[in-house]
Amino acid sequence: NFKYLFTPYKIGKCEIPNRLVVTAMATNYCTNQGLATERYIRYHEERAKGGWGLIITENYAVNEHAMAFQGIGGMWNDEQVASHRQLTERIHRYNTKIFCQLYHAGRQTFSLVNGGVQPVAPSPIACPVNREMPRELTTHEIHGLVTDFGTAAERVKKAGFDGLELHAGNGYLIAGFMSSYENRRTDEYGGCFTNRMRFLREVLEEVRSRVGSVFPVSVRFAAEEHELGGRDLAEARMVAALLEEMGVDMINCSNGVYGSYNLSQISTMYMPHGWTIKNAAELKKVVNIPVLGVNRITDPLMADQFLSMGYCDFVGMARASLADPFLPQKALHGQFQSIRTCIGCLQGCVGSLITGSPCRCLVNPECGHEFEYDYSAEVTPKKVLVIGGGVAGMEAAIAAARRGHKVTLWEKSDRLGGQFISASYPPGKGEFATYIGCLNYYVKETGVCVEFNKEATEESIKAFGPDSVLLATGAVPNEPKLPGVNRANVVYAEQVLLGIKTVEGRIVIAGGGETGLETALYLAASERGDISVVTSLEKVAKELNGVKRVEALKMAATRGIEFITNTNLVEICENGVLLEKGGETRLLPCDCVVIAKGYHSNNSLKDELAFLGDRLVTIGDAVKARNALEASASGCKAGYYA
Ligand code: SF4
Repeated sequence: NFKYLFTPYKIGKCEIPNRLVVTAMATNYCTNQGLATERYIRYHEERAKGGWGLIITENYAVNEHAMAFQGIGGMWNDEQVASHRQLTERIHRYNTKIFCQLYHAGRQTFSLVNGGVQPVAPSPIACPVNREMPRELTTHEIHGLVTDFGTAAERVKKAGFDGLELHAGNGYLIAGFMSSYENRRTDEYGGCFTNRMRFLREVLEEVRSRVGSVFPVSVRFAAEEHELGGRDLAEARMVAALLEEMGVDMINCSNGVYGSYNLSQISTMYMPHGWTIKNAAELKKVVNIPVLGVNRITDPLMADQFLSMGYCDFVGMARASLADPFLPQKALHGQFQSIRTCIGCLQGCVGSLITGSPCRCLVNPECGHEFEYDYSAEVTPKKVLVIGGGVAGMEAAIAAARRGHKVTLWEKSDRLGGQFISASYPPGKGEFATYIGCLNYYVKETGVCVEFNKEATEESIKAFGPDSVLLATGAVPNEPKLPGVNRANVVYAEQVLLGIKTVEGRIVIAGGGETGLETALYLAASERGDISVVTSLEKVAKELNGVKRVEALKMAATRGIEFITNTNLVEICENGVLLEKGGETRLLPCDCVVIAKGYHSNNSLKDELAFLGDRLVTIGDAVKARNALEASASGCKAGYYA
């Protein structure tokens, strides 16, 4: 079915076996000294095995103060070369090429990450997200940085990479010089287009002088920065033409900066797929070198369509490659159902990175743990019983079955998916259902025996006689101890999302966490009435990571949802709710109340099953109500070690 996706194409003289590219994504798997670890190498190796044509590594720092994250690769000294040579040698066992991306974070970092050294930038303007004031670079320092890029490029070549990519996008240092969004210099590095491109030009010339004319060099830059005073498409065409003129071999067309008003740098589940691909198409019109298009492209058929339409020559997938390293092979063999599709949740990838933790993926609990999971290793087959068919239970059952155990899964309802089913109902989250669909596929494919409408009790488990029991009974909604909570006008968020109960008119949602906000969005989207969210929190949905929260609140604002914060809902009456703030109470009239007060573990069975001793493992929300990222990870791990 694919016209172009699996055809080779050249970057300079380097032939890439297909058009699917793993684009750069910070992992935090390297050491703080920028060395490749076995974890990091296995992570990339898995993607090479999976059939990607080209891997562009995470952004390697060109000096020891250039990092936005502590555990990323580095090319600032000769000692770093050997470990990265191991990486390239391992990748070259497969039919995959690997480029190293080089960067300096500029102002988009913290001194905390760089040994207490203040960030540097073209001008002393703080990044609106990181908010740490950078120091303006002197001309002498700029020349030093040009040399840093050159020597780092030389090491990239020595380490055996097939090419390199300069990160001149997304608000990092080179991008900062290129854009009047960040650059207010009045010397030869600021002002007119030619001056703003000077640092990039000098870096490119230095790099070329070190790696020669044949070594492939790609440049990633943002076609549109989506920020007041940032680059627009008109200037992006000029940049693209300049890059070709300067002998660059490929353009990687990105978008946005850290502070972009529409968060275009890493799009959330609320943004359409491939929504900036037309920018790549515009650049392609003005150059004859390959153009790589990116941005929430997760489907191989969509990727092929973009290639067929001539929008780009390569399609980059960073998060989709975290979600499924074997996406290319599965696509090639038509196994679309088996692809673990990135759902744009940002829980495991961006959500982990911003806390300084290693990159993870919600829908692929083995991401970053490839070194740990080896399904070819022999085990003594056991009779494994998994109780509960939510995300944790399904992942556990799949991992245990893949290990060779005989696995039975008991689910008390008539379908698998648990809370993740209702989680897919709010606007923008429909794709969450693909994960459950995919897990259903693997449950079947691995031969797990599923029994629906099956209650687990001490007796039934004893009668079944398992060698190992994985308790994945999930979480249940909190029932607040409020006067009036049992009235007929009260329902629970999950009942609303699943269509079990209908509400309309004047609706009050009790609870402003993630579920409260998303239920409000769901009701507003179907125009069910006027919605107020009452919360004791100062910040609505504060558990959502920043990027998603911004998007969700923007949607809420356009849909007229009212937030009543720092307020306690103290009683539910027949015709409204009684609110208390600062010692004063008032009645807020309403027709119905939706309870969204969070969840608590449902593990009442645990004590009854104490007789199992260490044959019982409790997993997922049944341990502690957290999030789906922890549920999938703990499920997979428990299943693997069952
Ligand atoms: Fe995609 Fe979510 Fe995985 Fe990130 S954690 S790669 S957004 S599925």
